[in-house]
Amino acid sequence: DSLFSTQISHLALDIGGTLIKLVYFSPNGDNCEGGSIVVGNGCSVVQGRLCFAKFETRKIDDCLDFIRFNILQHSGVQHTNGTARDKLSVKATGGGAFKFADLFKEKLGIVFDKEDEMHSLVCGVNFLLKTVPREAFTYLDGQKEFVQIDHNDLYPYLLVNIGSGVSMIKVDGDGKYERISGTSLGGGTFLGLGKLLTNCKSFDELLELSHQGNNRVIDMLVGDIYGGTDYSKIGLSSTAIASSFGKAISDGKELEDYQPEDVARSLLRMISNNIGQIAYLNALRFGLKRIFFGGFFIRGLEYTMDTISVAVHFWSRGEAKAMFLRHEGFLGALGAFTSYKD
Ligand code: ADP
Repeated sequence: DSLFSTQISHLALDIGGTLIKLVYFSPNGDNCEGGSIVVGNGCSVVQGRLCFAKFETRKIDDCLDFIRFNILQHSGVQHTNGTARDKLSVKATGGGAFKFADLFKEKLGIVFDKEDEMHSLVCGVNFLLKTVPREAFTYLDGQKEFVQIDHNDLYPYLLVNIGSGVSMIKVDGDGKYERISGTSLGGGTFLGLGKLLTNCKSFDELLELSHQGNNRVIDMLVGDIYGGTDYSKIGLSSTAIASSFGKAISDGKELEDYQPEDVARSLLRMISNNIGQIAYLNALRFGLKRIFFGGFFIRGLEYTMDTISVAVHFWSRGEAKAMFLRHEGFLGALGAFTSYKD
């Protein structure tokens, strides 16, 4: 069965703890508002678009409606045994592929063909790096530079997926990978703590706040401890963070005394820095020089990418390289989608 039929076909879902990601094929780009990439079938006769959409998992009804009205009505999605009234089969990965299987069957008549989450992530990254031009880039000192990927020299690399939590996967080839580490201090922590501390209502609002803030108001810097000078003997500049949120110990200071913008900024810095450092330590453990960062936490945000890059650069003394992916949030969904070829 071809991936490239004339209708919207082949839907894949990655249902995570925070977000549901959808990837589907549309020959003419109809119903494709959430971004897309152009793909061909290798003989350049049939072109089309891989379309992307995302929904909050807690608002799963919006996702069901989207699939009902924008995909199934235009759909050539496979029926499990032929007739229109039979159940439809779609690829699904992430924890929600288990948790919400009954709901999708009951509400949409969709049966999940489940794909393993880590396997899908790795397939998604390999697919992007091998087939989508200008997918990977570095971001350092405000400079974005696309990375030329040599298909013969791609492995090994470290994949750091920053979703609600963080997974670190050593990738040695197609289907050859091992989850070597992770941390529970991830995107969910940023959003969860951010909501509690700033009363913001959404991730976008929290990001907006962090744009306007100054982390030095709350973070304790080396210069705060050393009276404004560097601790040059061990290579710490006066502006290095000695203790995230450390200034908030000051007597008589309450949360209300700090601007939500500054709190959001410190939090984003703390989470990004920590992930960058753990990623570097794991790269060091296995002698990996290339680290790709994915997951919806990054959202192409310059400050986040800069913080992660600086952490990797600083700790590895320039030896290891942090790279980012343009379709960072859809790795698992893309990987599940590519399994249609198997
Ligand atoms: P998961 O599969 O665990 O849901 P994702 O890769 O989808 O992980 O990333 C989820 C994280 O992305 C959230 O914890 C949050 O930090 C961030 N994020 C980015 N955009 C949004 C959004 N619109 N709503 C909620 N979280 C978002």
